[in-house]
Amino acid sequence: MNLNLDDSFKVRVSIGSAIVLGLINGKIDAAPTTIYLLTYHDGKCTANCGFCPQARESQGKANMLSRVVWPAFPLKEVLNKIPQAVNSRKIHRICIQTLNYPNFFQEVKKIVKSILSRTKVPISVSCQPLNREMLKELSLLGVNRVSIALDAATKEIFEKVKGSAIQGPYRWEKHIEALLTAVEVFGRNNITTHLIVGLGETEKEMISRIQWCVDNGIYPAMFAFTPIRGTKLENMPQPSLDSYRRIQLAHFLITNKLSDYRKMVFNQKDEVVDFGASKAMLKEVIESGTPFLTSGCPSCNRPYYNEKPSGPIYNYPRPLTTKEIKEIANQILKSFRNEDE
Ligand code: SF4
Repeated sequence: MNLNLDDSFKVRVSIGSAIVLGLINGKIDAAPTTIYLLTYHDGKCTANCGFCPQARESQGKANMLSRVVWPAFPLKEVLNKIPQAVNSRKIHRICIQTLNYPNFFQEVKKIVKSILSRTKVPISVSCQPLNREMLKELSLLGVNRVSIALDAATKEIFEKVKGSAIQGPYRWEKHIEALLTAVEVFGRNNITTHLIVGLGETEKEMISRIQWCVDNGIYPAMFAFTPIRGTKLENMPQPSLDSYRRIQLAHFLITNKLSDYRKMVFNQKDEVVDFGASKAMLKEVIESGTPFLTSGCPSCNRPYYNEKPSGPIYNYPRPLTTKEIKEIANQILKSFRNEDE
């Protein structure tokens, strides 16, 4: 593969990543600790996910992913900036997100090779389902983790937001198969998936999916649904913060093997009312603040991917303040008190 890059080979960079790399000037109150890149494509993605501004039928802006702006740069300009950011320990990972278009895989490989020929840094590739040969190629190139986003907690919701019901190319079974194959190729716990809270699932369905992921060696990265103008789901609300906090707590307990979905208790609305852990353990875990940080590949903090910096914050991209932890503890306790009444 010819790695000579001319200016026409572009890549999109999340605005926060571009500031950290020094590609543009700007102020950010929480710097990304992972550099987020998106393959550049002159046109829309061939997929049609209802929440995504890049979707085939979306009227959303081409330079957006979730609520974040991703300006385009010649790849070689970006490559010149990466080694210094890695050596200064400003960043600890690079995440390459892909759109779905004919030549995407060739371009992903070129980006991976170009980066690793300049510096040693863990790379995540966040992509559509790939077959075993393609997964092996990425592993041989030195890719550290692959993420194949399920996004939905159930097959029904999947088909509605990114599958057959929305004329999207994806099928639940194919996604599941690709995830399990990726675990075989990369090994347990080296594979990530994305789960979006607030697409119509119950807490029970989401927590059960989180458990399924962990049982199968897949790390579930949690996202809060974010309505984006011009997308099919632009009028849907964000999930309630109470519910999101309970799901974050369940996620932390399950991914850290401190509890298990099968030990948890749900009320008639399928909300979690018992986490299958002692009150002392819950108090300690909540007061650490850690469950409410962004979850994802190591060093993935995705600042303000699902919220404005002014809040309310779903995924904290930096350690929480004591005041924030107190507020969350009260929120969770209040939701339990409401449950007891
Ligand atoms: S969890 Fe973060 S680093 Fe990993 S694939 Fe997703 S966005 Fe990228």
